[in-house]
Amino acid sequence: MEKKIADATRVFHQIARLSNTERGLSFQAMRQLYIACIVSIADFGVPIWWNNQKFLLDKYQKLQNLALRKILGAFKTSPIMAMELEAAIPPPKVRFNKICMNYSLRIMQLFKNHPIRTRVSTSFPPYNNGNELDWDKYLDWNEKEQDKDMEIVELDSDSQQEQRHRKKRRKIKRKKKKIVSQLFRITSEISELLPSLKIEKIKQKWNSPWSQSLTSLIDIQISELDKEKTAILHHEKVQKILLKNQDNSNAIIYTDGSKNEQTNKLGAGVFYTTNFVKNQCFSWNLGAGMEVFDAELFAIEKAFKIAWENKQLNTDKVWIFSDSQAAIKRLKNSSLKAGQYYVQSIRNWSKKFKDKAIQLHLEWVPGHMNIRGNDLADKAAKKGTELQYITPESYISLAFIKRKIREKGLIKWNNIWSKSKSKGKHYNQFECKPKWKQSASTVKKQVFSSYFQLKTGHGYFKSYLNRAPDSYPDICFICNTKENPEHLLLNCKRYSSIRNKIKIEKQLNQLSLKILFSSKQGQDFLFEYIRQTGIATRKNML
Ligand SMILES: [Zn+2]
Repeated sequence: MEKKIADATRVFHQIARLSNTERGLSFQAMRQLYIACIVSIADFGVPIWWNNQKFLLDKYQKLQNLALRKILGAFKTSPIMAMELEAAIPPPKVRFNKICMNYSLRIMQLFKNHPIRTRVSTSFPPYNNGNELDWDKYLDWNEKEQDKDMEIVELDSDSQQEQRHRKKRRKIKRKKKKIVSQLFRITSEISELLPSLKIEKIKQKWNSPWSQSLTSLIDIQISELDKEKTAILHHEKVQKILLKNQDNSNAIIYTDGSKNEQTNKLGAGVFYTTNFVKNQCFSWNLGAGMEVFDAELFAIEKAFKIAWENKQLNTDKVWIFSDSQAAIKRLKNSSLKAGQYYVQSIRNWSKKFKDKAIQLHLEWVPGHMNIRGNDLADKAAKKGTELQYITPESYISLAFIKRKIREKGLIKWNNIWSKSKSKGKHYNQFECKPKWKQSASTVKKQVFSSYFQLKTGHGYFKSYLNRAPDSYPDICFICNTKENPEHLLLNCKRYSSIRNKIKIEKQLNQLSLKILFSSKQGQDFLFEYIRQTGIATRKNML
């Protein structure tokens, strides 16, 4: 670990030369380099040793602070938490916890007799590995230590005997359960993210090298054209199918998945017809442990099943239309990842159809384009989210856990941020929130560092430089008032013509620090304004 940090620091010093506050690689490029070249080295093996050790955290934080300053082109005194927020780079603690949670997620996807898989708790999903321990002594992965409520019970008993008895009792009760291993510690990190232990399974045997890929069994099409054109072509196609379909030998099926934003429940819907006269709709409630992606796959799999159950002797073509490109793309590859079950199950259906010489087509149709079948499938999926009965086929999906891990990381970061004392007074007024992705548009390094300096109030302007003993007076010579970010951006007469020009260009009626630093529009204004005025740069001070 010491070595890893040393390695990472060395790489940092190599990369650091690529950029300073004035020129060099852009903020985005430096951020990318930090994550790819430094973090990846430093974080090697985190799941093996991470246990909230503060002294180790400090070392990582020190490296991160150096890097953040380089990435943002910030001053040494810039508040650290603000730099992390601005660069969308989480504090090491948040990062480590996320790494450990992701590691647990990976363990869930290992095959049953993988050496790591056999060392986690028996009850860790999705398999039982037969690891029975003395659970009175050891803490299971999804168990919380509770030892506080024992002490209050017998406070009013006085006799000596009882007192001795009590002492003994307390001794036994307060003995802490042992944590079995680091693996148990890591897996416990995600226990509270799982609403149930019925987790999506990944199976090695489903991916035998000789198993056929779906593309060889099904004609899978995703149009490269835009939504409008694809919709028109789709209408024409369906018309053609219907013209030739007097004998109902073609089955036409639309599928959809949907999420109810109020209840977080997922629904799947299938619309089945041969002629748009006699129609059938099917709905499922999949519970709240999945993502739309899973619901879409679920619906497609059901489409195959329904087609099979409704097939006639003369059926020769099945058309399945889904509006989810992600789901269709997932079916095209058979990797050991989320959604693998559907690849396997659809493969089995496809083979059955093939034996009957029935052709299969799976195509993407754009959603919300007035395609009747798609609208009806959408309706059926929405209805699914409102059904009382949750289908026993539902489970907790890997995609769901992945999203939960991201959410939990952000919550932790937010907690650290809101408790932090190093937000920076000036920065704090903009009420920024932690996020995983940075959203600034790419601008020259110098413009970005000036932007960040103005945002934190630490940079090349007199109100800041004045902090040093016997330096500039902090007065703007032209306006004769205090020169601080606010003055430079909103009031300084020297730049009023530039300011007014860009204000019109960017269609901003009103200017305030909050508008400028908290909105996308304001940010565009600032980048342009900084570029033209050259404020908050070293050159401007000379
Ligand atoms: Zn001025």
